[in-house]
Amino acid sequence: MREPQSIHANEDTRLIPTWSIIAAAAVFVLVEYYFWIVFPTQQHHVTPLGLRIYLNLSWGLLASVYFLMLGFVSMDAPRRSMSPRFWMLICFVMPGGIGAVLYFLLRTPLVSTCPACGTHVQNDFHFCPQCNYQLTASCGNCYRTVRASDQFCTRCGHELAHDQMPARLRVLGN
Ligand SMILES: [Zn+2]
Ligand SMILES: [Zn+2]
Repeated sequence: MREPQSIHANEDTRLIPTWSIIAAAAVFVLVEYYFWIVFPTQQHHVTPLGLRIYLNLSWGLLASVYFLMLGFVSMDAPRRSMSPRFWMLICFVMPGGIGAVLYFLLRTPLVSTCPACGTHVQNDFHFCPQCNYQLTASCGNCYRTVRASDQFCTRCGHELAHDQMPARLRVLGN
């Protein structure tokens, strides 16, 4: 027996790609190099060592997070039918992480593909809008999502065994 959730297979792809981890590590090293080796020679007054360690590590981590964020957007946007290039550009040019905040505010729900016809469908769809394939089990009375193994609807108490074949059993049978 197959869980109905198994059609959302593209959810478990890795969300931080290797290139962005490498870029983040490289940027961290570069920032540390600049602040420990290059920057001190241009300064005349001496900053306390504790404060220097704190500031240098903060700048390095901030720069790293920036690149991890870009990597995340590049993987997350296609799952939502959003343009990864456009949003990576927004995240890159907006200062102080505003682009990332915008992305999280405006991103659309996750999409997956219909197992029957390959159309992009949102995860809360019950039926494919193109071919009418039943994507999740639903109550025959209130049409809310139910689990394929449920006997009664959790919202309206409707006895699911009374439904026509379509509501639960079609999902179980596929
Ligand atoms: Zn379909
Ligand atoms: Zn119901």
